[in-house]
Amino acid sequence: MKVFKFGGASVNSAEAVRNMAQIVQSHLETDPLVVVVSAMGKTTNLLEKLVPGVSPDDEATALRQQLADYHHEIATSLIPNGTGIAEKVDALLRKLDERRASLLPSPEAYNFNYDQVVSYGELLSTTIIAEYLNDLGINTLWVDARKLVKTDHHYREGIVKWELTRAACRALMADSMTYSVVLTQGFIGGTADGNTTTLGREGSDYSAAILAHCLEAESMTIWKDVPGFLNADPKFFSDTVKISQIPYNEAIELAYYGASVIHPKTVKPIQNKGIPLYIRSFITPQSEGSSIGNYHTISPETPLYIFKNNQILLSILPKDFSFIAEENLQVIFGLLNELGIRVNLMQNSALSFSICIDNNPQRTGLLIEQLQHSFHVRYNENLQLITIRYYTQEVIDRIVAGRPVLLEQRSRSTEQLIVPQG
Ligand code: ASP
Ligand code: MG
Repeated sequence: MKVFKFGGASVNSAEAVRNMAQIVQSHLETDPLVVVVSAMGKTTNLLEKLVPGVSPDDEATALRQQLADYHHEIATSLIPNGTGIAEKVDALLRKLDERRASLLPSPEAYNFNYDQVVSYGELLSTTIIAEYLNDLGINTLWVDARKLVKTDHHYREGIVKWELTRAACRALMADSMTYSVVLTQGFIGGTADGNTTTLGREGSDYSAAILAHCLEAESMTIWKDVPGFLNADPKFFSDTVKISQIPYNEAIELAYYGASVIHPKTVKPIQNKGIPLYIRSFITPQSEGSSIGNYHTISPETPLYIFKNNQILLSILPKDFSFIAEENLQVIFGLLNELGIRVNLMQNSALSFSICIDNNPQRTGLLIEQLQHSFHVRYNENLQLITIRYYTQEVIDRIVAGRPVLLEQRSRSTEQLIVPQG
């Protein structure tokens, strides 16, 4: 069994879905192909605004209409005279309305409400695509990922219950052998008592990895709008190099530092089973792409760059005469943990502790406010965190381009720098 994952950009129009279906069609084998799909285009962003209490009524009504129009347009373009597909889309939209009406717009219920609403993006996309694949004559089984990927009650960041998920996958394998394609949603899961959860934004890669792991898949392929794993984000860099082979651990490090090509949680489940992960382009599906697997080094060997913008650097100094030692660090990390803030880089001296974090105005404000009870806090905003793996001095100088360096950390393989955003 092979697992394919298609993200929002690969299914954002009828034309895109036709292209995706062609890729699927050209890879059919005797075993069913497991296909994991995200919400179409930017649907998840739209649905976030339909969570109860987020948008004023008139705005929500307009957005709800936009959601319906967008999906209906794609559906009717794919199957021009299909009444079945339009009815299925309408039935889902009605269910979404009922679900939204049943939810209480309280701040405490926000995470729960979020998952109940936002999950409709994937339900809509896969429902349309399953109809279309069947219309093309590809025998497709639509599977509800909420019955497959079992999680705890951690809404918006569901923690996978592996044993339950494995059992559901085994049952699925037994039931799906007569199908060519098993089509399911990325990003969403379900609790044992039947509520919908999600795995965190951009979590569809992780969904595919969970299924690949539990199905002991032969391989997993992520189809993207880039030719593979590049040494830098093409948004920041004009002359990128495609990395053909990446060791699992290297991919984990890169995702952790912020490489946006794969979701950080994706690699572990497939590494654990030694399943190769391919990253290929849905725009040029005939080209080879990159593969992540049991390699010793990256190939070709070249510096890798990761840029994180909109960073804030906080310097935290005790108000009393104490040093920055264990008790103070415990207080600081306790707060970070409570507020769900991830530290991108940290450094300490005897008298101060510096952390670089994503500057989310709300959370950063809260953090500073709380820290100020016991510490003096100084900060610098609008910074860029640059990570360079396999650096040379020449490469660093070129990237820094004369900007003042606020903080620098260097190991044998990795250089990290904080500079003003250029
Ligand atoms: N649709 C979800 C999101 O946009 C999940 C994903 O695309 O991976 O975050
Ligand atoms: Mg997406």
